[in-house]
Amino acid sequence: MSLSDLPAAPVTTLKPSLAGMTRAEIADALRGLGLPEREIRMRVSQIWHWVYFRGARDFGDMLNVSKALRAQLADAFALRLPEIVEEQISVDGTRKWLLRLQPVDAFDKGAEIECVYIPESDRGTLCVSSQVGCTLNCSFCHTGTQRLVRNLTTAEIVGQLLVARQRLGDFPDRERPTDGLVPSGEGVRAVSNIVFMGMGEPLYNLDCVMAAVEVMADGDGLALSKRRITVSTSGVVPQIERLGAECGPALAISLHAVRDDLRNELVPLNKKYPIRELLQACRDYPGASNARRITFEYVMLKGVNDSPAEARELVRLLKGLPAKINLIPFNPWPGAPYECSDWETIERFSDIVFNAGYASPVRTPRGRDILAACGQLKSETEKLRASARIAAG
Ligand code: SAH
Ligand code: SF4
Repeated sequence: MSLSDLPAAPVTTLKPSLAGMTRAEIADALRGLGLPEREIRMRVSQIWHWVYFRGARDFGDMLNVSKALRAQLADAFALRLPEIVEEQISVDGTRKWLLRLQPVDAFDKGAEIECVYIPESDRGTLCVSSQVGCTLNCSFCHTGTQRLVRNLTTAEIVGQLLVARQRLGDFPDRERPTDGLVPSGEGVRAVSNIVFMGMGEPLYNLDCVMAAVEVMADGDGLALSKRRITVSTSGVVPQIERLGAECGPALAISLHAVRDDLRNELVPLNKKYPIRELLQACRDYPGASNARRITFEYVMLKGVNDSPAEARELVRLLKGLPAKINLIPFNPWPGAPYECSDWETIERFSDIVFNAGYASPVRTPRGRDILAACGQLKSETEKLRASARIAAG
């Protein structure tokens, strides 16, 4: 056997990246270097500030860390982020990034996920993924046609925000790009809001999603208020309670139908957690109030769920719940079995909801030309080995 017949060295020998880690993970990493326990807290705070507040990409920049420790850190760790493989910029300024993640083992080429940035005049929203693909098969969603490869780690979720901030110059003393619409001005953040509406069901990866929200919301670093971080779910009822009790970000529910028979078809998870149970979980969500309304997403499918009677039923169902209703024009994808409702139908639906006292903005489709709109995301990553599948639920 010649040397070239040997399998490639496992890529897991890559140095672990501190960028994206939680405080506890960074502390453990430093313990592994043999740092004395009494120093750990302070060192974690220093690294935290550099990585999350300043956006440092190099241990050499961490000037208040001793030179010897900087060298030690660089020796053992990296500050690697998911890699931007492709950037597409829509005519409306929406950017879609195809990101390659670090391989998990020697057989993995590095899974790919999509992440979308949606600029508006006064805010910028980053739509992040929580899984590669999705195990749920909502009939109108492109992501659902991709087989789940795996859950994202906390660092990979936070990494999407770090990549976006790096690319958009959204750290102190950085330049904003001028090739598209990026909000700018004194104190204006390029990324001001996060929505977990990319690929995947966040509540099937709840521990990592909650840890990522805590990192994103940490006041000494990325400092996004939890009110500006929205977790969207297709309705994993028991996990809604945990999300509320243990973390408490803003909540969005993908409702899409007002009757169980239709919702069973559109969102098959409904067979397990029907509408009544889902709405009860919303009523129990801590902090739900007029100031912190729950968003109900409703995709407008022509001739399927868009009648005036359904609009009235929606209003009846949500009675007493502090809610916003977000009507989403269906975004087509190749081979999709639905069409988007006509504009007049959407307006009529929206009027009924609005006249009942609910804010009912119709979500303007953004980035449709680059397949970046809701439900259009799908990466080419295919399942490599059965054992790489993460059991969901
Ligand atoms: N899995 C989570 C979050 C990701 S999907 C969830 O289902 O809530 C984000 C939103 O996009 C959901 O409301 C989803 O129902 C919606 N969506 C999916 N496919 C769509 C499509 N083709 N057109 C419009 N919205 C879509
Ligand atoms: Fe998964 Fe959400 Fe798409 Fe349903 S709508 S398949 S839960 S990503």
